Amino acid sequence: MTGARVTFVKGVVRLSDLPRAHIPEIAFSGRSNVGKSSLLNRLAGVRALARVSRTPGKTQEINFYSAADRFHLVDLPGYGYARVPDSAKKSWGPLVEGYLEDRKQLAAVIQLLDLRHGPTELDRAMIEWLEVKKRPILLVATKQDKLTRQERKAALDALAGEFERRGAAVVGVSSLRNEGIEQVWKWIEEHCRSWRKRNP
Ligand code: GDP
Repeated sequence: MTGARVTFVKGVVRLSDLPRAHIPEIAFSGRSNVGKSSLLNRLAGVRALARVSRTPGKTQEINFYSAADRFHLVDLPGYGYARVPDSAKKSWGPLVEGYLEDRKQLAAVIQLLDLRHGPTELDRAMIEWLEVKKRPILLVATKQDKLTRQERKAALDALAGEFERRGAAVVGVSSLRNEGIEQVWKWIEEHCRSWRKRNP
């Protein structure tokens, strides 16, 4: 999949505006500043597909990207950033919850967390909610270049110990150093394939 053409489709602020295409979707969720835009740009192999945020948490849209028209990468708005105005916080819930809960095209969710800090309260709440909704989850631990090899291993082992037995896969990445990106693509491909089998 690497090198496939990834292009911006649309930004959605209302559930009624979601794309109609019958193709699988992989959603990216995480708190603001976790490295979501950087990962999307790496996956797309371009520098400026998703905006790397200077004002974290500002976008309250769900952004759709098409990968060679075969599936959509779906960038959910980042959560948990204090500077987002209350009005924006209020709109996050219904839009994102509605999408994650009911979307037939949603094949799987990639939940990002910062490997240095482990899951925040909100990350945990999100993971538990996705488990209840039976959405397949890949936990992507970001910015692993900021840890030593030893720290990295300990942090990844801790995540695997907690979440793999609950059915989530765990991958460490560095968008900066282009590490783990192939593994993420492989997981995406697998889950798109199984969605297509279930939804011919
Ligand atoms: P988003 O708000 O989740 O979309 O996060 P961004 O992709 O905008 O990244 C937030 C900040 O983290 C930026 O300053 C990025 O340069 C930095 N960042 C993102 N990924 C990495 C990484 O793999 N390694 C390091 N060291 N910094 C990163």
